[in-house]
Amino acid sequence: MIFSEFIFNSTKKTMEIVVSGIRPTGNLHLGNYFGALKNFISMQNEHDCYFFIADYHSLTTHPTPHDLHGNVKQVLVEYLAAGLDPEKATLYIQSDVPETAELYLFLNMNAYIGELERCTSFKDKIRQQPQNVNAGLLTYPTLMAADIIIHKATKVPVGKDQEQHLEMTRQFANRFNRLYNVDYFPEPQAYNFGKSLVRIPGLLGSGKMGKSEGEGNAIFLADEPAAIRKKVMRAVTDSGPTIPNQEKPETIQNLFQLMSVVSSKDAVNHFNDLYNNCQIRYGDMKKQLAEDMIRFTTPFRERIKELLSDEAYISKVARMGKEKARASAAKTIQEVREIIGFKSF
Ligand code: ATP
Ligand code: MG
Repeated sequence: MIFSEFIFNSTKKTMEIVVSGIRPTGNLHLGNYFGALKNFISMQNEHDCYFFIADYHSLTTHPTPHDLHGNVKQVLVEYLAAGLDPEKATLYIQSDVPETAELYLFLNMNAYIGELERCTSFKDKIRQQPQNVNAGLLTYPTLMAADIIIHKATKVPVGKDQEQHLEMTRQFANRFNRLYNVDYFPEPQAYNFGKSLVRIPGLLGSGKMGKSEGEGNAIFLADEPAAIRKKVMRAVTDSGPTIPNQEKPETIQNLFQLMSVVSSKDAVNHFNDLYNNCQIRYGDMKKQLAEDMIRFTTPFRERIKELLSDEAYISKVARMGKEKARASAAKTIQEVREIIGFKSF
């Protein structure tokens, strides 16, 4: 089709396009860092990256205006403190790019209730907030698809919990292409440098570390050392192994997994040997884990504190990102409108 060829030629880029975002529902934790942010930072040099703060998405839990604004600022500061560079990557706030909402509307016309209801995250949310099962929760996957395909991204660095949403994004993108007989949206893939996607467990037994998983479950990059010690010491364990080389229950595996991301290999091996010999004392392991987490998070905490007071710089970064993200999104929306058949008179 001549029209789609024209679009492809005119949007040709040399670098692969990368998109990902984090909801401003609280401070960023080790799960966000190892599942997403760490890869954002590695990818910003070699790719055309768009990293956003998903404030539309956070409206499903009805934040107050004050909390919403404060959390958006906090996540932007944490992006910068972790090492994202606004000169290399486009860092923007989702609601600064209303074209995303328009694409979300178009995609919703072609997304089916059945497939949205079957989505695991929707089922989880129904359980978590039965008093507030709103349409935004149901259509979370179409908004996420809009976020990604508005920039025609091919790589999406995310944690394991987002795998199913990425599958749905591909579904919606392909469906659009088929419906209008165009080869317009590329297929985005969840990305972790060829390795399987990361899932950092929480401290309270089962489940992943999460911003909205309750007090004590997550270690935040901004946490003070005392808070980290307290949370780690309260982490769920059991009464200990009784036979050598016993299989580890989930809560203990979780502690080892957390240790594997912040501690040295020697420390992990040391406690693993003790576990296998039935000599482990979880208190000692937790002390080591807490100190290693403090060592890991301290540089982040310090930079977060410095940046939080630099209002002028934060506004400058947000304005810069808005301009770049809108230029990319506006181009897509204009082309999508034409494909759909919205033409100016
Ligand atoms: P919320 O509880 O509000 O959903 P969250 O902690 O799940 O917050 P999101 O904003 O939903 O964070 O996700 C941001 C990114 O962090 C996504 O790429 C997601 O896959 C990743 N992520 C979140 N939690 C973890 C985790 N425990 N392990 C690995 N990656 C994670
Ligand atoms: Mg989440």
